[in-house]
Amino acid sequence: MNDHRYATRKHGSGMMTEFEATLLRQIFKMVLETGKAPSVTVLHKTLKTYRLRIVRTIGKLEEKDRLVRKKETGEIVCVYPLSLVPTEHQVIMEGEKRLFANCALDALSIPHVFNKNAEIISQCHTCKEIITITVKNGEIVSKSHARIYVWSPKQIERPVAAEYSPFMNFFCSEEHIEAWMRENPQLVQKGQSQLLEHVYPSIRERWARYGRMIGTR
Ligand SMILES: [Zn+2]
Repeated sequence: MNDHRYATRKHGSGMMTEFEATLLRQIFKMVLETGKAPSVTVLHKTLKTYRLRIVRTIGKLEEKDRLVRKKETGEIVCVYPLSLVPTEHQVIMEGEKRLFANCALDALSIPHVFNKNAEIISQCHTCKEIITITVKNGEIVSKSHARIYVWSPKQIERPVAAEYSPFMNFFCSEEHIEAWMRENPQLVQKGQSQLLEHVYPSIRERWARYGRMIGTR
């Protein structure tokens, strides 16, 4: 890949340069290897390009909502769809370390960014019962509950969607998502409860496209 050629690529509302994609791919690679995001120094040594370019590009990726840094330290704490701090949404891909996602929808997207088989382990937001979903060759092949529901906001593009991350959870039954909706009437207009199988195909398509764009799958 020629880093000097400025190529723009479309993804959702944001464009991405060739070097932004290279940097993201390297960050993902190191997260898979070590479980955490690399420092600027490590990226500088690995990518053999000047530090300022890396610092600026990380800033650009943050502006485009591709990653999030901790304000105080500058440390990368999230590179979507991965959370680098533990959450209740865990994803174990074949041959990889345990990963975490910011929300239920991001957990479902992770196998498709990397084109890997995976087990998603989360819980029902209402009763805290463990929910598992197994993805093989892009398909859901088994799950802990017959009818798993997900709440998702109407607007799924970041940064709007990020505000709703704490609400984007799995539920073990229609009864449990409805109970939660009754307790959160302010969210009723802002999103919908959907069956896992209904929300899954569009997530798969969107994030497989993202994985192809940055070269992680
Ligand atoms: Zn439940």
